[in-house]
Amino acid sequence: MKFPSLRKMNPAMMFYLNLSLVISLVIVAIYLGIYLRNNRLLMDSVKQQAASYFDLIVRVRRWNAGFGGIYVEKKNGVETNRYLREIGTEPDVVVADGRVFTLRNPALMTKEISNIFSEHSGIQFHITSRQLLNKENAPDLFEQRALKSFEEGNREFSEIERGPTGPRYRYMAPLMVEQSCQKCHFKFNYKVGDIRGGISVSIPFKKIEDELDLNLKAIIGLSILSLVLLLGSSYLMLNQMAAKIEAANLAIKEASITDELTGLRNRRFLMTRFSEEFERARRNGGTLGLIMIDLDHFKRINDTYGHPFGDLVLKRVAQSIEEMLRDYDVAGRYGGEEFAVVATGTSSSDMLLLAERIRQRIEQMEIQNNKTTVRVTTSVGVAALADGDTLETLLKRADNALYQAKHEGRNRTVHL
Ligand code: GH3
Ligand code: MG
Ligand code: MG
Repeated sequence: MKFPSLRKMNPAMMFYLNLSLVISLVIVAIYLGIYLRNNRLLMDSVKQQAASYFDLIVRVRRWNAGFGGIYVEKKNGVETNRYLREIGTEPDVVVADGRVFTLRNPALMTKEISNIFSEHSGIQFHITSRQLLNKENAPDLFEQRALKSFEEGNREFSEIERGPTGPRYRYMAPLMVEQSCQKCHFKFNYKVGDIRGGISVSIPFKKIEDELDLNLKAIIGLSILSLVLLLGSSYLMLNQMAAKIEAANLAIKEASITDELTGLRNRRFLMTRFSEEFERARRNGGTLGLIMIDLDHFKRINDTYGHPFGDLVLKRVAQSIEEMLRDYDVAGRYGGEEFAVVATGTSSSDMLLLAERIRQRIEQMEIQNNKTTVRVTTSVGVAALADGDTLETLLKRADNALYQAKHEGRNRTVHL
């Protein structure tokens, strides 16, 4: 099967093709829209998750700072926060029964909570600042960028970071100086409301990225499937349409040159061919002849057996003429009960022989209706192209020959 060429497509087919293309594009655009929206929702939800963690940590820190730190019993590997000593706060206290308690400030608490989260879900928190009490909290590259962005007035910063442990969603928001912070961070001369650093939240992104990947693959798959189905069905439909149109065109063309009753060529086609063959014979010096065949007393057949039987006779006669033709002859219905053969490439004696054979065959033919058997005869006029002939003189001579055959008593062939 071949796709109909654009030249063969009529406006309706072009419209259908364009419509399929537009629908395909719309479908792909819808899928793309769904994908992008899905993507955005997923990213929004990750960001929301990170922001909630941030919020939680800030509130827990505020709770801690509000008490000026929380004391925990120093046992089972609980270490003293030695950085507190550097700012003049002794973290360890001994209570009456001899047990030692040590101070957990917000920074260390954040770190310890982060460790718990990290072990369980891979989520990490990190408190950082440009001015540090604990140098271990120095900002990494992402955090440096985030801090710079906060200085420019932004209140959130996020990125997807690709490290050796897989992709991570990183989020950071600024940490504002509150009154409770000043007790420890006094040496940096902050004012309440200043940004003194930030807490970054880091969420493993592999699962989410896999989900996004799967979404993308599903969208691409669906798009391709839709396109294949739609364009495939259009292709088949257009192909069928083109075949039907071509067949219809052929049928119209065939009908325009065929005599409806007998199936022979009609007079217009016959005359066109006659004129073409005349020109060709004139140019190449070839032979050309015209055989005119007219049924004898055909009116009587109609009158005796009825018009439908007359039609049957015409069909049978046409069939007989057809069967006698050689490849290069063309036969047609010239008028009501008159047929003509344009014979090319044969000598005038062969032409006469052909005409006579046709006449004899028709004469011998039995045409039956359910009651009687009927025989018909024809008168035949033959004229072959001669020097000085025009189309009209040749035609006239054939007509004259036929007239003479009638005049001489019918059922005979006359050659002029
Ligand atoms: P002749 O031997 O002189 O040719 O006599 P004829 O009766 O054959 O000639 P005429 O011209 O008097 O009559 C021709 C008849 O052919 C008249 C017409 O009704 C009939 N005829 C023409 N076309 C058709 C047709 O398509 N079907 C039928 N059944 N008859 C037709
Ligand atoms: Mg007749
Ligand atoms: Mg006639």
